[in-house]
Amino acid sequence: MKCRKCGSAAVINLRQHRLSLCKEHFNDWFIQHCASTIKKFDMIKPGDRILVAVSGGKDSLGLWDVLLKLGYKADGLIINLGIDAGSEYSARSLEITCKFCGENGQNLHVLDIQKEYGGSVSHFFTRAHPDDQKPCSTCGLVKRHELNRVAKDNGYTTLATGHNLDDEAAVLFSNSLSWNTSQLLRQDPVMEEYGQFVRRIKPLVQFYERETTAYAILNGIEYIEEECPFSTGSKTNYHKTILNKMENEQPGLKYQFYRSFIEKKKTGLLKISENRPYEEHYCQICGQPTSSEGKCAFCRMLEGMDQAVSR
Ligand code: SF4
Ligand code: ZN
Ligand code: ZN
Repeated sequence: MKCRKCGSAAVINLRQHRLSLCKEHFNDWFIQHCASTIKKFDMIKPGDRILVAVSGGKDSLGLWDVLLKLGYKADGLIINLGIDAGSEYSARSLEITCKFCGENGQNLHVLDIQKEYGGSVSHFFTRAHPDDQKPCSTCGLVKRHELNRVAKDNGYTTLATGHNLDDEAAVLFSNSLSWNTSQLLRQDPVMEEYGQFVRRIKPLVQFYERETTAYAILNGIEYIEEECPFSTGSKTNYHKTILNKMENEQPGLKYQFYRSFIEKKKTGLLKISENRPYEEHYCQICGQPTSSEGKCAFCRMLEGMDQAVSR
């Protein structure tokens, strides 16, 4: 297998693009493809202050690396969720992210949920749902709320996340199976600023996971290889496995699936009026947008903790 650009030994075959590339030309392609994604979806505007949500994984660290190579100034934010389940997952994520940050001389915000709110994600979850196994709903709630809060509090205009095409295709697949139109409408490479929400962008949305993995490995980016212990057996992983089987039979299927969805959305297939993540309600405690009057789900969760502790 030879590089289509220079004829030397290829390190990767991008089957959906019918393109084999050597290390040098894969890196060029990856960085340029990311730049064109940012441009195509108008993700970054002049004067924007970018905050990258990092987890220590290949996608978020790879994204940070590419943004820096493209000349953007971008700081990082990691949330120490306190997830361990015997694996020290959160501690290791933090260690690897701090290492990347030190080697690249970048600013990193570290938010420790335990120190900030007196309990880890697992702790909050176990209190609220003692019989359930996976704290993913609580984890998602904490991440959504806190990523936005830290970005807003520190004057960032844009929050960049490392979601790749495999992630997005799996979410799209899941939401399509249930025809969850409000979630389908929210799924986009860019969620514009709305009320107290900062703009969210996903610059890796056109890359397959094997491409983001290759980028991290070929560029010597150390990342946490183990997944969160709670991701085993998750619905998302199940949907990813199904899509991978279809992709093997039909290279490019995931790309087509996602890209066609984004194109169709622009034609008004789904009503734009539904494209509002929240009604005009603001939490009376933290001020963030919420779907109903009173307190947001995050503040209700913390309140539940207080009551549980004082009982
Ligand atoms: Fe959080 Fe993801 Fe782990 Fe679930 S699998 S607990 S959402 S990091
Ligand atoms: Zn080459
Ligand atoms: Zn709130």
